[in-house]
Amino acid sequence: MNQSLTPGNPVELAKGVRRLLAPNAGLMTGPGTNTYLFGNAEVAVLDPGPASSRHIDAIRQAAPGPIRWILVTHTHPDHSPGASVLAAATGAELLGQPPPRGRVQDQTFKPDRILTDGDVLETGEFLLRAVHTPGHASNHVCYRHEATRWLFTGDHIMNGSTVVIDPPDGNMKHYLESLQKLKGLELAALAPGHGPLIENPGETIDWLIGHRLKREAKVVASMRDHPDLTLRDLTPFVYDEVDRKLHHLAERSLLAHLVKLENEGNATREDEKWRLVSREK
Ligand SMILES: [Zn+2]
Repeated sequence: MNQSLTPGNPVELAKGVRRLLAPNAGLMTGPGTNTYLFGNAEVAVLDPGPASSRHIDAIRQAAPGPIRWILVTHTHPDHSPGASVLAAATGAELLGQPPPRGRVQDQTFKPDRILTDGDVLETGEFLLRAVHTPGHASNHVCYRHEATRWLFTGDHIMNGSTVVIDPPDGNMKHYLESLQKLKGLELAALAPGHGPLIENPGETIDWLIGHRLKREAKVVASMRDHPDLTLRDLTPFVYDEVDRKLHHLAERSLLAHLVKLENEGNATREDEKWRLVSREK
């Protein structure tokens, strides 16, 4: 087993870049949430994870210097609730985007500084640049670490599974655009919010885009074969290779595909039944 993916065991992945796994392994979190620490003399913490006192203690122990900044990629419950707790304990500044409305958003996250695309956190030891990547969540931000050219991807890209796009805050069109946007950055690796480092960023991003477009093609084919089905009834056709126990999650991503097709004028719904827009005159 990769010893680096053990909770409470910080690993220095590169000079002044450490990863610490939160003890929240699960269906949606894989081995757990990765918390990253940057710097030695003064430390920035990225995604402190859930408000687990065990993990907050581990972060404070892993930090080689005082924690001055806390950044989050987005405000889902496995990424940001530890932020306000850690800020209260350390006086660190909170950076990121505020939570949108919604039941799965951590409303305790109140940034002192709102980061928009291109904003930087620069110290004598490191520079992190915010890359706004809506799709998985509308307020999702990735961070590019200048010295390593690594992109800290949160839930925009995970290692080990594709991410759930859950409308209305999740948006498939934006997700694909945000993947495309990464291709313009010069990246040496992807450091995901879940799972180990991804060392072939270009290939991975291309695969993810292709995977979503292939799924979209399957959605269109399934709708052609089975018009006027509800979301629930359409799911087994589109995700026939996926374990039925996971269909409630697949259903959310299918809805994201359908909304994308609808917004592009290629699908309509009536009484929650979906059909393709006919191109024949
Ligand atoms: Zn998330």
